[in-house]
Amino acid sequence: MTVRAVLRYVTYLLRKDETAEDEFAARCVWGDETECGAESGNMQTPEEVHDWQVKHTEETRHNRYRRVRADYQLWVPTEHVPPAERHPSNPQGLEPAKVDRVKV
Ligand SMILES: [Zn+2]
Repeated sequence: MTVRAVLRYVTYLLRKDETAEDEFAARCVWGDETECGAESGNMQTPEEVHDWQVKHTEETRHNRYRRVRADYQLWVPTEHVPPAERHPSNPQGLEPAKVDRVKV
């Protein structure tokens, strides 16, 4: 039995996924031993989070928040990856790759 494999490296770059909106959220961390824990939920703009914070502070006088901004990223191959080299369990065709840090 002969087993043959062709392996090669493909360079990928990490890019922002422009098809997905950024998400913003805040959680009230006011309190010494136990924090309030009230959460804004995911919002589409920082202004919406700001408005939620203003309302929560007006209602409770709580004034300390943990705010997060989340975005989506994609590893994008810098060259065409033939379908035969794609891993069947990954619908996006990602394969074992050599990853170099590249500043963009
Ligand atoms: Zn609170």
